Amino acid sequence: MITELISVGTEILLGNIVNTNSAYLSEKCAELGLSVYYQTVVGDNETRMRETIQTALDRSDIVILTGGLGPTEDDLTKEVTAEVMGMKLVEDRHSRKLMEAYLEQYKKNNPQRKITANNYKQAMVPKGAIVLDNHNGTAPGLVLEKKGKTAILLPGPPGEMRPMFEESVFPYLRKKQPEIIYSQMVKICSIGESQVAEEIEDLIESQTNPTIAPYAKTGEVHLRITAKGKNEKECKKLIKPVVKELKARFGRNIFATEESKSLEEAVVDMLKEQEMTLSLAESCTGGAIAARIVNVSGASEVFLQGMVTYSNKAKRRCLDVSKSTLKKHGAVSEECAAEMAKGGRKASKTDICLSVTGIAGPGGGTKEKPVGTVFMGCSYKGCTQVREFHFQGNRARVREQTVAHGLAFLRD
Ligand code: ATP
Ligand code: MG
Repeated sequence: MITELISVGTEILLGNIVNTNSAYLSEKCAELGLSVYYQTVVGDNETRMRETIQTALDRSDIVILTGGLGPTEDDLTKEVTAEVMGMKLVEDRHSRKLMEAYLEQYKKNNPQRKITANNYKQAMVPKGAIVLDNHNGTAPGLVLEKKGKTAILLPGPPGEMRPMFEESVFPYLRKKQPEIIYSQMVKICSIGESQVAEEIEDLIESQTNPTIAPYAKTGEVHLRITAKGKNEKECKKLIKPVVKELKARFGRNIFATEESKSLEEAVVDMLKEQEMTLSLAESCTGGAIAARIVNVSGASEVFLQGMVTYSNKAKRRCLDVSKSTLKKHGAVSEECAAEMAKGGRKASKTDICLSVTGIAGPGGGTKEKPVGTVFMGCSYKGCTQVREFHFQGNRARVREQTVAHGLAFLRD
């Protein structure tokens, strides 16, 4: 069923508030298997609102509107939608009673505030509409059905809209759309997006249910596998062989098969499994890799120490990098990264130490080592491996990519 979201409010157009309602509703509609084809924002303007609602009802089966249901003059959503759908407004006794009770309580808590007659405007509803109780405010929600089209009107404040959606709208839409959509995520690191896409081109092309969609993230590629089915169990059954095939193709590069699992979590889990401890010797990332690791609760079991050795002096003092290495090869070099990792491991007495040294820019680059050149060393059991990277972008992007690839290096 084609679904459209309309957010009403001039403050959204002005950028004064972020349209979180649409993000929330889109996610919920996807969960329900409804296809959201359009999201529109319209100000509190009668003419433009009428035009927007008319267009939406012409091209979509379900239109969900948020905002503009309140008691003030500029709250027009209900009036305009009823007009477009050819429905008259009548007083809803139940809503009026609920509102009176709510206002009574409000008066007790805010004796200095006056309750205006405007409030009662909220008890007027389009004739034949389904009224949705608002337990967190006064404006009731409404479901308007006519000629196979449905308009769902919800209050703007997320604290009112979300509980109303969960409680009343979700079950209502579930009945309308019995098929559900269910997704699973497969997360990959250490391979670029184009390589991943190439390796699964045949799968993407041949799959219709489930479908596979790749998303590139910094240093990671996420594959969303989405199935349509009667229930979660049926969807999971459809997804299972695809995940198996992806595991066969990408092996250890898959670090998670669930949406919520981050790369740092996968690293911490792996260290725990193998009973290994970690230290970090960071230069250009300034502790950002450590910060990602300590995002994971329980990281203290495996992460013992992070050292930010930004200057050559610090690299010498804390990590025992030799004077000659710094002089001959410079701090951003394969040799320095190797010595940093070795020295860091020794200083912190951990099983593994990852070192990072690079040129984040904008200054400091040379012809041989342009901005974005990063060396990472990983010292483990007396063996030290170094990788060289050349990242693109500004200082922040270079650092961000260094952090992601550092974590992926650890995961390898
Ligand atoms: P009220 O009874 O509070 O007037 P309403 O249904 O008329 O509610 P609006 O007046 O349009 O809704 O918006 C009220 C408040 O709700 C906004 O100031 C804003 O804080 C929040 N809000 C409205 N729309 C959105 C949205 N799309 N995303 C996030 N917050 C929103
Ligand atoms: Mg309002």
